[in-house]
Amino acid sequence: KLGNETAKALLGRASWHHLHTLLSRFPANPTPSESSALRAYLHLFQRLYPCGECAAHFGKIMEKFPPQVGSRNAAVGWGCVVHNEVNRSLGKSIYDCAHVDEDYDCGCADGEADGKSKE
Ligand code: FAD
Repeated sequence: KLGNETAKALLGRASWHHLHTLLSRFPANPTPSESSALRAYLHLFQRLYPCGECAAHFGKIMEKFPPQVGSRNAAVGWGCVVHNEVNRSLGKSIYDCAHVDEDYDCGCADGEADGKSKE
């Protein structure tokens, strides 16, 4: 069995990886329905995050930094900022948001048809 801190860190790394990847695949020009789906998703991600103290802490961060769902760029930037807020509060180093695009290429070789291609 993993120690509590190890398990919490593993959950955190996996969750951040999934979140940043999802944001980097959000449509560049979303429809209102896509934007509202992302907003709802992010609030539920926070509410249902498995580590309760993390969820509570992240809820405060989301009050200060409401989800930006108007475009892929805005969403990616938001994800980087809120992760950096968590980094700051845990005493971790601040990540350079210019690297998000290269770090979260999901390797999904999808065509243009899915509306998620990079442009
Ligand atoms: P992580 O912070 O997990 O980051 C993984 C990798 O992502 C880094 O190595 C880096 O390559 C990249 N990265 C770093 N910063 C950014 C950024 N700003 N944008 C994009 N990529 C980046 N842990 C607690 O102990 N207390 C908490 O209250 C807490 N709250 C959390 C809330 C949420 C919503 C999440 C998802 C996690 C939370 N965690 C919390 C876990 C914590 O954030 C870390 O995931 C965990 O401590 C492991 O840290 P790590 O050093 O491996 O790097």
